[in-house]
Amino acid sequence: MGNKLIGIDIGGTSVKIGVLDINGSIIQKWEIKTRKENKGINVVSDIWKSINAELTWNEINNEVIGIGVGAPGFVSQQTGMVYEAVNIGWKNYRLKEKLQSLTNLPVFVENDANLAALGENWKGAGNNTNDIIVITLGTGVGSGIIANGELLSGINGTAGEIGHIIVDRNGLPCNCRRRGCLDTIASGPGVVYKAMKVIEKYPTSDLAKFYESEGDITSKDVFQLARKGNQLCQGIVKDITDILGYAIAAVSSVTNPSKILIGGGLSNSEEQLLDAVNISFEKYSLPRVFQSCKLEIAKLGNDAGIIGAAYLVKKLKQSST
Ligand SMILES: [Zn+2]
Repeated sequence: MGNKLIGIDIGGTSVKIGVLDINGSIIQKWEIKTRKENKGINVVSDIWKSINAELTWNEINNEVIGIGVGAPGFVSQQTGMVYEAVNIGWKNYRLKEKLQSLTNLPVFVENDANLAALGENWKGAGNNTNDIIVITLGTGVGSGIIANGELLSGINGTAGEIGHIIVDRNGLPCNCRRRGCLDTIASGPGVVYKAMKVIEKYPTSDLAKFYESEGDITSKDVFQLARKGNQLCQGIVKDITDILGYAIAAVSSVTNPSKILIGGGLSNSEEQLLDAVNISFEKYSLPRVFQSCKLEIAKLGNDAGIIGAAYLVKKLKQSST
């Protein structure tokens, strides 16, 4: 029996790969570029090549227990299929089967945000809590829900998609082909969109001047300007965090979590983000739900996915033997 776990986190830009020990400590990790051309046909073989370059034959064949792999989009742990990963170009892609036949190792797949939730709960700020929600705010809103100690997957792997709760019925188009999802608001592009609207409306404001001189604006800029007292940016932050807190309160009424972790690179002051979300979370929550739940900052950053992927191997391998 081996003692090493491989965790893989496939993203639209890069694939993160880690070798971990059975307790979840990272022994080594590296990244490769995601080759998205030809509908991502090379991604899996690139992963296998790079594992072979980093690990010896003996390590792969005698020490590795299995491979856990996360991909963005709609992924089913049970079937091992990636139904749709827009960022990579996969559609109805047999990820588990392909990686398993290349490596001859047991492979377990899951949605990337769900793995981040497992990772944070195992080695991050979760502390192995039974009821937790982990939200990652970046280019989109990623989320995973653990309820009664189990990751919620649903009938076809689509549970826990907080980012696709519609919070504005007439809102912006989302990549799920509907409109007004939380993803279009509480994400980097969502914040920038809102900032550009404000700049259009107030072309002589300090915010418009900032944009003119920088030639660009990011969500981090908006949060930073708000911290420095810019009222327009404070308004944007308030709007966005109000909607985010509303969505979190709605989901919390369903699962009654003891912790909600927020991570990702939306703001460079996570405390600022957390404080603002906490206000609206309280405003929209059932008091009993709010009182028993703590909002915290996720700890693992980019490693959450590979750690969660390794945890998936550990858990599923144990339950199958
Ligand atoms: Zn959507």
